Amino acid sequence: MKIIFTGTGTSQGVPVIGCECAICLSGDQHDKRLRSGLYLSEGDTHIAIDVGPDFRQQMLSVEARTLDGILLTHEHNDHIAGLDDIRPFNYIQKQPVRVYATERTAADVRHRFSYIFAEQAYPGAPRVELIPVKPYIPFYLGKVEVMPFTVYHGKLSVLGFRFGRFTYITDANDLPPRSVDIVRGSEVLVLNALHHRKHHSHFNLEQAIEWGKRLNAGLVYFTHVSHQMGKHGDIQPTLPDGYSLAYDGLTLNI
Ligand SMILES: [Zn+2]
Ligand SMILES: [Zn+2]
Ligand SMILES: [Zn+2]
Repeated sequence: MKIIFTGTGTSQGVPVIGCECAICLSGDQHDKRLRSGLYLSEGDTHIAIDVGPDFRQQMLSVEARTLDGILLTHEHNDHIAGLDDIRPFNYIQKQPVRVYATERTAADVRHRFSYIFAEQAYPGAPRVELIPVKPYIPFYLGKVEVMPFTVYHGKLSVLGFRFGRFTYITDANDLPPRSVDIVRGSEVLVLNALHHRKHHSHFNLEQAIEWGKRLNAGLVYFTHVSHQMGKHGDIQPTLPDGYSLAYDGLTLNI
């Protein structure tokens, strides 16, 4: 399984427009973070997790030609705003793109992209097949088995996904016990880590490290990173062995 981090930034991305902090002005490519997303390939199955506002640029950067499906973690704008840009996949694959989401997230997508789901959609509108998923009910997407599970994002229940030895969790600040059982022992685990202060709906760096240990993961990568985290080059050396800040373009073969 090949994993590419297509984006590792929080909702405004890094640099933030107009910000003159040292991180936003950094010349290091590791400090340029598009909105969080992942591209996962196993054989000829290709999956994107989330379809944020930078989706077009992200699919170009991984040279994607086909998508077997998009998994949505939740309906916040930084995870769905790029849905219109699936149109090239409609054109190449000559079919709707399958988008997997909970009923609540699907309802939000239908509402916000009403033109896609209109009875008489205009010619050239994106074609999407929304497929409802429920936490803890695994399914296959192409050859890849996907286990969705609940994580808490403030007051919102959102989805994390386990794929065999690999688990992806973004936008969370707590996990229920049932999900802890599913995630525990992942060889490679992605967790969100926003910055250093406490936050109402995201792990901060200290909490994300604690959770990595509690979940007994092999290698842990942090995503959904704010400019307030600090420069990649300053933070990475402070992390325990096996823990890394992810960065855009980071590729793992699992
Ligand atoms: Zn987010
Ligand atoms: Zn900044
Ligand atoms: Zn969110």
